[in-house]
Order: sequence, then structure tokens, then C-alpha cells
Amino acid sequence: DTVYLNGSFLPLEQATIPVLDRGFIFGDGVYEVIPVYSAQPFRLDEHLGRLALSLEAIRIHNPLDMEAWRNVVIKLINANRHLDDQSLYIQVTRGVAPRDQAFPNPEVAPTVLLMSMPLVTPSPALIESGVSAITALDIRWQRCNIKAISLLANVLLRQEAVDHDVAETLMLRDGYLTEGSSSNIFVVKDGVLLAPPKNQHMLPGITYDVVLELAQAHDLPHRIAPVSEAQLRSADEIWLTSSTKEVLAVVMLDGVAVNDGKPGPIFKRMYALYQAFKNQVMRPKR
Ligand code: PMP
Repeated sequence: DTVYLNGSFLPLEQATIPVLDRGFIFGDGVYEVIPVYSAQPFRLDEHLGRLALSLEAIRIHNPLDMEAWRNVVIKLINANRHLDDQSLYIQVTRGVAPRDQAFPNPEVAPTVLLMSMPLVTPSPALIESGVSAITALDIRWQRCNIKAISLLANVLLRQEAVDHDVAETLMLRDGYLTEGSSSNIFVVKDGVLLAPPKNQHMLPGITYDVVLELAQAHDLPHRIAPVSEAQLRSADEIWLTSSTKEVLAVVMLDGVAVNDGKPGPIFKRMYALYQAFKNQVMRPKR
């Protein structure tokens, strides 16, 4: 596979980073994951916009302008055309400098890496059955709106899910749902779709935005409001969303069935809307 590292395209095996890179030493950097369907990036400008905000939040000068980012992304997609659908990973760290927590002074060039991995979206069987999840306390920091590469809490929370043989860990902070360890969470109650409001306790998901746009466009009753633990546990439906999982139903929470333990009717409607929307915007332009 071909990767992009600091201006060059090269085989993954030949791409190396100095041990003093602040990404390696401190987890001092940010990232993006962009789904690519049939060589076309989905919501590219939104992902690049969020990357720009993450960089700004941690005070790294954006190393490329929008046009340059778009060009690198397209080139990398084309260099990896052997992959059917791709999950394109972008990482920017503060660069290489002697180990000191304060920013390097003078500033050093950020390290820019792009790589492509196979995009594996949930199988039809998984869409049909839904997945199980557990809950855990949200032990993360107060800047979860930044897509930071320092993901130790997420790593531990996600491993808890694996240890319980379930798909995701849903996090609760002060009695309210924040998000999943690598997804945003929606709840349906009495026919109304509920979405936790964007704040410093969750990542502003690109897929979250798509789902709310579709709800709006298709008159699906929805409300952006905090979701309490009680609302989560009495939900008619629970969904998780992310760029790689798209929209997936959670049918079992902490070993208890969500409603009848099957993906609900509103999930099915949204799943169909999401696929239709994706196919529509991904249709080759003429
Ligand atoms: N929250 C967290 C913590 C995540 O890691 C992700 C996936 N990157 C999401 C939410 C979903 O975001 P998106 O829809 O942009 O993939």
C-alpha cells in the first residue's frame, strides 16, 4: 500500500518516523478518518474542515490549504485503487523535537501522514441483527470535541467492549450519554429521534450531521437534547454512527434487550435513507 508522508508518496514499509516525533512521545497530534466509496471520498470538505478545527484547537498551523489537502487525498486514493472501498487515515503531529512538553521553540514542521486501509462497512447480516453494547463511565478529558490521537481512554473503553464480546462501549458522564468509544449515539423514544448536543464531551461526528440532515429533510421527528441514563435504558431504539460503521442498531445494552431486541422501524428507515443519500452523492459526476 502507498502512504503519503511529509510530501512524498512511498510504500507503507518504507515510511518511518523519528522516535522523537511528538506524536510518538506525547500523543501530540490530531487525525481524521474519511470513508472512500468506489474511489470517491464521502463528505471530504467536512472532514477537512473538522481537521482544520482540531489543528487550530491544539495550535498547530495547518500545513496544507484546502486545495492542497484535496489533491493529496485524491492522489492517495488513486495510488490505492486496488482497494475496493477505502478508509483514508490522516494524522498530523506537532513534529520532531527534543522531549519537552512545551511546544518546540522555534516551531518545527508538523509530521503529516496519510494512509489508506480497506473500508469494511457492517455486513447485511449485522444490519439485520444489530449489535450489543455495554455502558461505562466516561473517563476521558474535557476536550473530546478535538479529534486527538491521544486515545488511551478510548482504547481501554473499547477493549472493555471486546472483553465483553460486544461491539461498542457507550459512555455516561454525570448521568448523561456522551457517545461511544469510537461512534456517536442516537436514541429513539416514542417516535422521536434524540441526539446529544455537540459540546466538549463528544466528537462532532460527520455521520451524526448526515443523520440529522436526513431526519430534517425527511420530516422525521427529532430533537437535539441531553439524553439521560434513564432515557438510554428505556429507549425504543439505540443507534451508533461513524464514518466506517455508518448507521448501526444497538439491540442489547448491558445484557438487556433494547425493546424487542431487534433493529427498530425508524432505524430501518434511516439506514435506507443513508444508503440512498450515499449512492446519490457518490454517483459519478458527468
Ligand atoms: N466519536 C468518537 C469518539 C469517534 O472516534 C468517532 C469516529 N471517528 C465518532 C464519534 C464518529 O465520528 P464520524 O461520524 O465523524 O466518523
